[in-house]
Amino acid sequence: MSQTTKYIWFNGEMVEWDRAQVHVMTHALHYGSSVFEGIRAYDTPNGTAIFRLEEHIQRLFDSAKIYWMEMPFDKAAIEQACCDIVTKNGMKSAYLRPLAFIGNVGLGVLPKSDKVEVMIGALPWGAYLGDEALANGVDVMVSSWSRLAPNTIPTGAKAGGNYLSSQLIAREARRNGYVEGIALDTNGYISEGSGENLFIIKNGVLYTSPATSGILPGITRDTIMTLARELGYTIREESLQREALYLADEIFMCGTAAEITPVRSVDRMQIGEGRRGPITEEIQKVFFGLFNGETEDKWGWLTPVAK
Ligand code: PMP
Repeated sequence: MSQTTKYIWFNGEMVEWDRAQVHVMTHALHYGSSVFEGIRAYDTPNGTAIFRLEEHIQRLFDSAKIYWMEMPFDKAAIEQACCDIVTKNGMKSAYLRPLAFIGNVGLGVLPKSDKVEVMIGALPWGAYLGDEALANGVDVMVSSWSRLAPNTIPTGAKAGGNYLSSQLIAREARRNGYVEGIALDTNGYISEGSGENLFIIKNGVLYTSPATSGILPGITRDTIMTLARELGYTIREESLQREALYLADEIFMCGTAAEITPVRSVDRMQIGEGRRGPITEEIQKVFFGLFNGETEDKWGWLTPVAK
């Protein structure tokens, strides 16, 4: 097993990496019954701080609620555990992965026990799509796969099973020589990337797909809407047609892992000047400014890991 950090927080204890194991009969392994988060801790001038911890843990609990999974810890305990695992591993920055899942409760689609297990891993992780991507942009394709229909699997829950859709989208894109795929929703409107939300910029206005277009409403998306409004931009959350991608002045994808990644082409069609656009760069600057001290954290979005 490729160990990357020393400890994993597992059901309330700090467990050594090799000992943080589950049984092969784990329900989540067979039926996708898990909910999770992806959270970043940044090395800031005021020490290591977790970005929007409260909102991520709220979404974890919301995802669990949708699936009738009763969390065995309260939100404060999970938030504290997120801080502790970073400190325990002696990390300055990290990608945190809290996961709640149905364990070895026997087979049968409907779990025979309400027991929910929780783990939190902390991994060293740089730019998801590469540092070069943050500066120069990436080439993406519109996926032949649609995102999940709203009456099938709820995309508002960040559940393990949803990521089968993401895997199909991402794999198709990679196999075809693209960095990422953008999926449409089941009505044919733009949805999101395999693990990122999307913003389209046209004539100085920022457009993003609504929650009803099969997206996971991202916390980075919300952050960008707040920051862009502060900068004086208008944001429109509305159904977007595929051709809006081709005619955009700028496009960027956003998410905890992807942060703010510009898109320079879609389906081999050049977007704007074929590189990161000026508004994308301006928003990146205030976003990353939150972590290097250049942007004041007026919203209390940063939680120091050590108090
Ligand atoms: N959509 C999907 C499918 C995702 O997996 C993610 C990453 N969690 C996002 C959007 C972006 O969400 P966030 O900004 O909260 O990380």
